[in-house]
Amino acid sequence: MNIRAQVSMVFDLDKCIGCHTCSIACKNLWTSRRGTEYMWWNNVETKPGTGYPTLWEDQEKYKGGWVKGKGRPKLYLQGKTETLANIFFNPRLPKLDDYYEPWTYRYEDLFSATEGDDLPVAVPVSEVTGKRMDIEGGPNWDDDLGGSSIYAASDPNNKTLSEEERRQIFELQRMVFFYLPRICNHCLNPGCIGACPAGAIYKRGEDGIVLVSQDKCRAWRMCISGCPYKKVYYNWATGKSEKCILCYPRQETGQAPACFHSCVGRIRYLGLLLYDADRISEIAALPDKELVRGQRNLILDPFDKEVIRRAKEDGIHDQTIKAAQNSPVYKYVIKWKLALPLHSEFRTLPMLFYVPSLLPVMATVKNGLYELKNEFFGSHESSRVSSRYLASLFSAGDEEEIISVNKKLLAVRLCKRLQTVGDLDKKKSERMIAEAGTNPEEIEEIYRMISLPTFEDRFVIPPFMREMTIESVEDPSVHKGEAGVGYLRKPKRGW
Ligand code: SF4
Ligand code: SF4
Repeated sequence: MNIRAQVSMVFDLDKCIGCHTCSIACKNLWTSRRGTEYMWWNNVETKPGTGYPTLWEDQEKYKGGWVKGKGRPKLYLQGKTETLANIFFNPRLPKLDDYYEPWTYRYEDLFSATEGDDLPVAVPVSEVTGKRMDIEGGPNWDDDLGGSSIYAASDPNNKTLSEEERRQIFELQRMVFFYLPRICNHCLNPGCIGACPAGAIYKRGEDGIVLVSQDKCRAWRMCISGCPYKKVYYNWATGKSEKCILCYPRQETGQAPACFHSCVGRIRYLGLLLYDADRISEIAALPDKELVRGQRNLILDPFDKEVIRRAKEDGIHDQTIKAAQNSPVYKYVIKWKLALPLHSEFRTLPMLFYVPSLLPVMATVKNGLYELKNEFFGSHESSRVSSRYLASLFSAGDEEEIISVNKKLLAVRLCKRLQTVGDLDKKKSERMIAEAGTNPEEIEEIYRMISLPTFEDRFVIPPFMREMTIESVEDPSVHKGEAGVGYLRKPKRGW
């Protein structure tokens, strides 16, 4: 056993209002420099939709992440030999059009235009070439379905749906979308690290934050292909790759990451998880439908006496263990099993988790009139987006995981409605609550965390102690394009 700590985030998608404040906060802080104009370390997508960069989920196109091999998973992109053979040409990179050509407006035109009959306008100019341009796309072009179902129809996750299910999603009265905020997942088995021939990317041992060394980066850009989430970006001005740093400078001074701090919907929860780094390659090699459960098994119980003893032996500080015990992320992911990793079939073991949106039908249109259904909250079967679609996003195709989350979320709503308004069929509601495998105490706990959390409930990390940093070392196996964890060195004992 090799116990490590990971700073991790949960996003409760039912609470996301798609305001993009998180993206703007991140952009203002980190990517308003030359060469970073097109980068959105935090972006918010509308689902169903094609996302940013376009069709990032299509690994037949980009070959990101890992694939199941006979033993350890292998990089989908290529092994070390092929990397060296193709080092000057990587055909699996998103092009500028897949992101978008960043632009600004020539605002001075508004003031310097000569007097005339028409209103002066600020014309768009490219931030890359400085020339006037026509805007044909943006990082958020399909926001709210972009006014049509065309973008939604191209979502790679639709492949898992039957013709009938596809038709239903796009029926006007069932038409549905939800928001998916995305940052780097600070994975346990990062594709970006596996693909980098220069060994420039590393995972901090003490908190699991994945960083690109700006000294070591040699601009091969294999990390961009190797990351299946397309969360590493190339800075064309500095010639180095860059990515989300989980605002570690803010965290080291006790402040929450900018996206978290600014989140209007309060959908984000930040906390620590303890995990067994020795089991990473074993878990990453599991069959698709076992990956979510496997990842849960990798996360250790911070209350277990043996885990605490071993964690201390492995150099984990008492304050870190205490933070892991109070972690809202541990509650969401392990205790309540409500939060799931995004696309675990990419096998990078992403360490950010999502509470899938519960999208029940609450009303129908009858004879042209909007009619509230008798069953106020409906049921998970009447969800407007099929569990198969959500399973493709959050549980590597395992629909049972989604159904179980949906049932529990519904149980919380039914129980609170019964308590506060009491206008539901009591017997039926109680049966549904029992079927969800939960109880009133747990429901109350979940309800408080979802609806009434304080900042201190949502943000639980220990003070960072840089003098206790566990620096990473290079493990040659990682750079053979094989899944591995050797880049994590055990700290010195007896701190
Ligand atoms: S999401 Fe995972 S693979 Fe992609 S950059 Fe982050 S750590 Fe690397
Ligand atoms: S700030 Fe919060 S609510 Fe707004 S888009 Fe971002 S994650 Fe969603």
